Amino acid sequence: MASVRNIAVLGATGSIGGSALDVIARHPERLRVSVLAAGSQVDALVALCVVHRPEHAVIAEQRYYGTLRDGLKMAGLATKPHAGAEALDELAASDACDTVVAAIVGAAGLSSTLAAARAGKRLLLANKEALVLAGELLMSAARGADAEIIPIDSEHNAIFQCLRSRQTQGDVRRILLTASGGPFRGRSRDSLAAVTPAQAVAHPKWSMGPKISVDSATLMNKGLELIEAHHLFAVPGEKLGVLVHPQSLVHSLVEFVDGSTLAQLGLPDMRTSLAVGLGWPQRIESGVAGLDLLAHGRLDFEAPDLQAFPCLRLAWQALEAGGTAPAVLNAANEIAVSAFLQGRIGFLAIPALVEDALAALPAAPADTLDALLAADAQARSITEHAVTGHALSA
Ligand code: NAD
Ligand code: MG
Repeated sequence: MASVRNIAVLGATGSIGGSALDVIARHPERLRVSVLAAGSQVDALVALCVVHRPEHAVIAEQRYYGTLRDGLKMAGLATKPHAGAEALDELAASDACDTVVAAIVGAAGLSSTLAAARAGKRLLLANKEALVLAGELLMSAARGADAEIIPIDSEHNAIFQCLRSRQTQGDVRRILLTASGGPFRGRSRDSLAAVTPAQAVAHPKWSMGPKISVDSATLMNKGLELIEAHHLFAVPGEKLGVLVHPQSLVHSLVEFVDGSTLAQLGLPDMRTSLAVGLGWPQRIESGVAGLDLLAHGRLDFEAPDLQAFPCLRLAWQALEAGGTAPAVLNAANEIAVSAFLQGRIGFLAIPALVEDALAALPAAPADTLDALLAADAQARSITEHAVTGHALSA
């Protein structure tokens, strides 16, 4: 059977990182952690190194280099310490790994994800913001280097599995992404004005990092996922749809021209997607139990409420507009979500700020990374300034 996979887990201290490490540790005979990377949680990174004994550990934030080096030494580990974004990119592209779990949150993950794609790695892609910001470049880098992208986002992982029964692109009539609806499903727009960060991150079905949890509450997450699906599966916006499914057991559906619809089902646990990515084309144990449909009883579906959750509409528009629009959408959203989590703005300011950024920076063609990064930087700056105009009175 296949040789041992050497895996770099980027974003190791996060929610996806932890799930990936859980699956990897179940298969010591075929999966090995060779690189662990985190943003600034240096103590958590050292603790993970003690358990997984990688060859390399990277802390993105330079000022923690000494803490990382000393922590590894004190633990008696041979793990080599590194710091900074460049070291991260170099290791993601190096011979130290053949597989990269891209699980950094936000546009901060783009550079290392691109580096892994350009180096032809198997790329387990959770970092959806990288695709929203630079989907065409990332996909073409992967094609050029024969990098195999396996989507980890549960919807896209479901679609990836369903598409295995397709012969040609023309076989697909429609792709439907399911959405849990988040913690505020069924609420009116007005009733959302006073919701708190704690309420927004309390997702009913999934346990995730704070940023994606807020994105799920605004439905921006589903909007980002539409753009993600467009790039991953080369489908135009009009072939994509969203179905709210509160039980989160059907992870997405693909409808074929003959009227067949295939769906992938399972408990809401990201270890299933990660096991697909780590084992593919073989199926490996993930630690996730099977689905007992009798115990769950029912599967409900409803249309998304675009009045209460305008972020989904804004993302559709950005997808249609193309060029720099998705980059602007993503950057404005990252700034707005961070301000909301810090208690600086209210929940409804998130769509307002994103809408204003899209209006201020109309879509321009963008075929270079520099153009996209410039749009990203402009949108961040505009939105950061606009946050003060939406500031909650203390
Ligand atoms: P998280 O906040 O739990 O973890 C983020 C990780 O990224 C941490 O390890 C952090 O140290 C690292 N990080 C942050 N900034 C960094 C930087 N500048 N450089 C290097 N590392 C940095 O987030 P998460 O929930 O695990 O989500 C990670 C990604 O996966 C996101 O793009 C998210 O949209 C996507 N995703 C997550 C889930 C989920 O269930 N959590 C599901 C689908 C997709
Ligand atoms: Mg998802």
